[in-house]
Amino acid sequence: MKYSETIERLMLEFGKLPGIGARSAERLAFHILKNPTEQAMSLAKAIHDVKTRIHPCRECFNIAEAELCAVCADERRDHSLICVVEQPKDLLAIESTGSYQGVYHVLMGQIAPLEGVDADDLTIDALVDRVKQVRPTEIILATNPTVSGDATALHIASLIEPMGVRITRLARGLPSGGQIEYAGKSILSDAINERRTVKD
Ligand code: ZN
Repeated sequence: MKYSETIERLMLEFGKLPGIGARSAERLAFHILKNPTEQAMSLAKAIHDVKTRIHPCRECFNIAEAELCAVCADERRDHSLICVVEQPKDLLAIESTGSYQGVYHVLMGQIAPLEGVDADDLTIDALVDRVKQVRPTEIILATNPTVSGDATALHIASLIEPMGVRITRLARGLPSGGQIEYAGKSILSDAINERRTVKD
């Protein structure tokens, strides 16, 4: 037996979300159906707004509502210091330590050939252009301490090194194979403060 076409369509859409199976999709659809119209419309509007208002920052690819994200728009930040992270959530983790005053560059992933992600799928070209234009004093490679994260950092270092910019990497202390987003604030803070130059 099937529900009406409209309900089936809503269930189908919920079922496309990560971690939502057929049973959950059905439960969510009926939750929407029986709850006040106002509440459901508010959800629909939030989804609409996030897809129409949010876009990558023109400078660093962080999530932004204006042309520049809040970090890039902040003139008090040190724009000659660029911290390269994989995802916006890594940026948030570093921001939460309060020990970093520079700006960022968000790669939107890591080089992972087995998953079909190579350098061209990331914002590496934009980073290289930015370094050429801005001539920062230092690039901090804050990719995750995983095999793919390290490979991504090495690749970026090989592109930027010839430009004569100081390149540093977060200090070890972050658990190897771990994720920046789950690192404790004090460990992450130490990793930033005790960062080391990639090549002497
Ligand atoms: Zn930005």
